[in-house]
Amino acid sequence: MDVLSGAVLQAVLALSAEPDMRLWRRAPLAPFTTIGVGGRGAVLVTVATPEAAARALAILTETRVPWAALGAGSNVVVADSGYTGVILKLDDAFQYVEGPFGSDRLDVDIVVGAAAPLPRVATFLADQGYGGLEFACGVPGTVGGGVAMNAGAHGGCMADVVKAVEVAVPGETGWLSAEDLEWRYRRCTLPREAMVLSVRLSVTPGDREQILTQHRMLQRRRRQTQPRGVRTFGSVFANPPGDVAGRLLEAAGMKGVRRGGAQVSNMHANFLTNVGDATAADVLGLMAMMREAVWRRSGVLLEPEVRVLGAEFPWERGEAERPVPRAGRG
Ligand SMILES: Cc1cc2nc3c(=O)[nH]c(=O)nc-3n(C[C@H](O)[C@H](O)[C@H](O)COP(=O)(O)OP(=O)(O)OC[C@H]3O[C@@H](n4cnc5c(N)ncnc54)[C@H](O)[C@@H]3O)c2cc1C
Repeated sequence: MDVLSGAVLQAVLALSAEPDMRLWRRAPLAPFTTIGVGGRGAVLVTVATPEAAARALAILTETRVPWAALGAGSNVVVADSGYTGVILKLDDAFQYVEGPFGSDRLDVDIVVGAAAPLPRVATFLADQGYGGLEFACGVPGTVGGGVAMNAGAHGGCMADVVKAVEVAVPGETGWLSAEDLEWRYRRCTLPREAMVLSVRLSVTPGDREQILTQHRMLQRRRRQTQPRGVRTFGSVFANPPGDVAGRLLEAAGMKGVRRGGAQVSNMHANFLTNVGDATAADVLGLMAMMREAVWRRSGVLLEPEVRVLGAEFPWERGEAERPVPRAGRG
């Protein structure tokens, strides 16, 4: 039934009157994610300009409607019941690369729109003879999602290359220096109610062929260790300090374990795949099983890398079997 709550309806009326925004009520969200599960969003809003993003955030704040930014959806799982707030997405106008700026032979700056796909930016820069973003050549998210997640691989991460971030907050836009943000493993703490619009990256002029060779080598390594052509959101759990989540999950016997339409990859135990008709309940239930198995086997409580929209993780709402202290642990 298409019934919007009073606050969302009020927000929809105000947003509909604004230029440079497009609204989609009851938008199915599964197709906007790489795992491909979950229900509808009450409203999906795409914004075409920085000012539109700032105005949208002002309206959502005034009407007290919860919202969430969505990039390529490569690190989110949407609840089967959907999302009752507003999903904000940058449209294609935010897919751009500007620069280089600066004449330093060691470092130059590039400004990239937050909707630009990370692998495309990395490859474009490599083709122009700029290195620094090689780690991102196989990360299938957007630049904005990459900042929010501090995406990284092969020893590099966004925090290494981001110099400044342009954000929209309710009613205004502005630049924040990277030093003013808190970067942690697979996480960057942005100001409350902020959406990333663009990013100033520091890249290094280098030998085009060498940089492209490095891309090919990293892509080959991915093909050898991760499942290809499947619906997944990449790593399910973050690596705990001093260990690797995939190793712990494999040791706990999770490879190939299936729940409904969700299955742990036979190739990589920290990858969960939608093998056809998975629901978010299958995915979240399997995640709870994976976490439980590692706790029982190794005494490590894994923390999710993936974000959930419209629900909590089962162990947060106490539905999963609660891990019990293992014998012998203090
Ligand atoms: C096959 C596969 C391989 C992967 N490999 C890696 C890897 O090697 N390393 C790695 O780090 N990740 C990896 N990932 C996970 C994912 O690609 C990254 O986390 C990526 O940075 C997410 O970007 P996104 O645009 O898809 O963000 P989304 O999944 O859309 O969103 C993720 C989070 O970022 C927020 N967000 C998105 N856009 C914005 C914005 N403009 N402003 C503010 N917040 C925003 C969302 O609200 C959400 O909280 C992989 C995923 C897949 C499917």
